[in-house]
Amino acid sequence: MKRTISMLWIGTLLAGLVGCATSNDSNADLRQSQSLQTVVGTPGNTVVPQNPTIPTSLLGVQPSGSMNQFPADFGGAALRNGKERPVPQDRGMDHRPTELVLPGHEVEVPAGDQSTKTQTAFATLPSGTLILYDSTGPYGWLGELYGIASVNLASHFGTTASKPVIQYKVGDIAKYKAVIYIGSTYDEPLPVAFLDDVLAASVPVIWMYDNIWQLANRAADFVGTYGYNPWAFDVTPISQVTYHGTVLTRDPTNGAGMMQFSPFDDTKVATLATATRADGTTLPWAVRSGNLTYIGEVPFAFIDHNDRYLVFCDLLFDALAPTTATQHRALVRLEDVSPMTDPTAFKAIVDYLYANGVPFSVATIALYTDPLGAANGGKAQTMKWTQNAAMLTQLKYAVSHGGTLVLHGYTHQYGSLKNPYSGTTADDFEFYMAHVDPVTNNVVYDGAVPQDTAAWATARISSALSALKLAGLTAPTIFEYPHYAGSPTDSKAIKGMLGTAYHRGLYFTGDLGLTKSDMTHSIGLFYPYTVTDVYGWKIKPENMGNYEPEAYNNHPPRLPADLVTTAQNNLVIRDGVASFFFHPYEPLAQLQAIVTGVKAAGYKFVAVNSL
Ligand SMILES: [Zn+2]
Repeated sequence: MKRTISMLWIGTLLAGLVGCATSNDSNADLRQSQSLQTVVGTPGNTVVPQNPTIPTSLLGVQPSGSMNQFPADFGGAALRNGKERPVPQDRGMDHRPTELVLPGHEVEVPAGDQSTKTQTAFATLPSGTLILYDSTGPYGWLGELYGIASVNLASHFGTTASKPVIQYKVGDIAKYKAVIYIGSTYDEPLPVAFLDDVLAASVPVIWMYDNIWQLANRAADFVGTYGYNPWAFDVTPISQVTYHGTVLTRDPTNGAGMMQFSPFDDTKVATLATATRADGTTLPWAVRSGNLTYIGEVPFAFIDHNDRYLVFCDLLFDALAPTTATQHRALVRLEDVSPMTDPTAFKAIVDYLYANGVPFSVATIALYTDPLGAANGGKAQTMKWTQNAAMLTQLKYAVSHGGTLVLHGYTHQYGSLKNPYSGTTADDFEFYMAHVDPVTNNVVYDGAVPQDTAAWATARISSALSALKLAGLTAPTIFEYPHYAGSPTDSKAIKGMLGTAYHRGLYFTGDLGLTKSDMTHSIGLFYPYTVTDVYGWKIKPENMGNYEPEAYNNHPPRLPADLVTTAQNNLVIRDGVASFFFHPYEPLAQLQAIVTGVKAAGYKFVAVNSL
């Protein structure tokens, strides 16, 4: 009997969810997988109002009760009340409060204080990217999650710094070579110093979504200078964004709205990407005038594999590395390889990849265990690598034929619990708790394991590395979370032992270090290139998902053509990586179809450590 798992990612809304699936020869498979979505969740007790516009079918793909309970709008639900929100148009009327709203934050420097500006502006040579995010209002926590997304992506290009925009000090922009501001709270009280520094800046500034009207109101002649006026949000279902001729998706249930412009002088402003409404009409999705790039929404919400999120990932090159040469590389990882993996099927896959010049990774589980006997007729079973000489031989063969070992957990399950499926290796979460909601069939994230500490996490990693060493294997230097989930405590601790990770990331409010860690709010992220995340992990990307022939837990099947489509769409990223994983119990022909299609799209497969 072979036992396997699968992980798949669906990205839809915000939230990170992950799951692995298992299957066995009986076909009574559990198929789970991973789905990651972007933000937002309140596992357990939910306080965020549900978006009434999200259909039940979509809620189904959300990882937990929290994930898709995305606020009906970003920070302005109470204001909007289901209707289109007006953008303040009263030029010259400054509605910003004269004092900052939140206690305990820096007081803004008067905008006219040029002496202060001069003193602080050039204290250091400009370098790195400054990320500023909103933090006020009932959805202020969203701002930090979007800040995390921006910090992680910008890290691909160099150093980063971040803080709530209300802590902005005059001259801050001059210390950096680029600035990203995410406006996620409607009418966040932006410091005058920030607005004035943006208007005076020569470095690239990327501004997302809300509060662009505050900048326009502050400018002497915004329309004359920038060529457009931020007018009002379009909250109709928009499902397409076209960039460099490639049509990317956008979740039409995203009701947060997209900025419309009027007037719009295309002799002064460049349209970088275009959104298409349901009726076929279009509006600019991202525009640029001079050093200011404006994106009419937050591109981190409701992300999926083929999402307009990819546009943002590529626009960062314009701001941070404009001379980057175009190249397209690909990664493949063989998933959930344990002492119970079928050596014959595994070897056939290794031989195929090796013969075709395709380097690969092997997500290796250190110990197979099935304490509940779920896959063994009710009788508990455990198997070490040293107890299956045939499979161990094939794993070593893989290493000598282009394979790189990645540590994919000690047991890839948790104790004797069904967490959430069977308690069997590769089925369950190891560093996070989860259950399946019997009504919605969603995998619900329940938080850290009961005894979650750095010592607990590192002990498991030590045990795993010892088990592999005992089997004569060279210890992996790369880690991959089982089902892509762990607590911040675990991530920081494991990062101290294995500094590189090869997975999608799950992040929580507080990860930027300025607020108390709050695991009730999370964001899941995938990347199209290497990043260094907020835990300090050097991350190798996985952004295509995996071959998954059957739907499970509200995740749709994902066939070779779907993965190839994702690879083709990722070509919009000028120096991006198309990365997928494959369970060696699946038919070799399916792997061949994916590898062939990805190569035909223009990618070159490389070893993970070459990135
Ligand atoms: Zn797994």
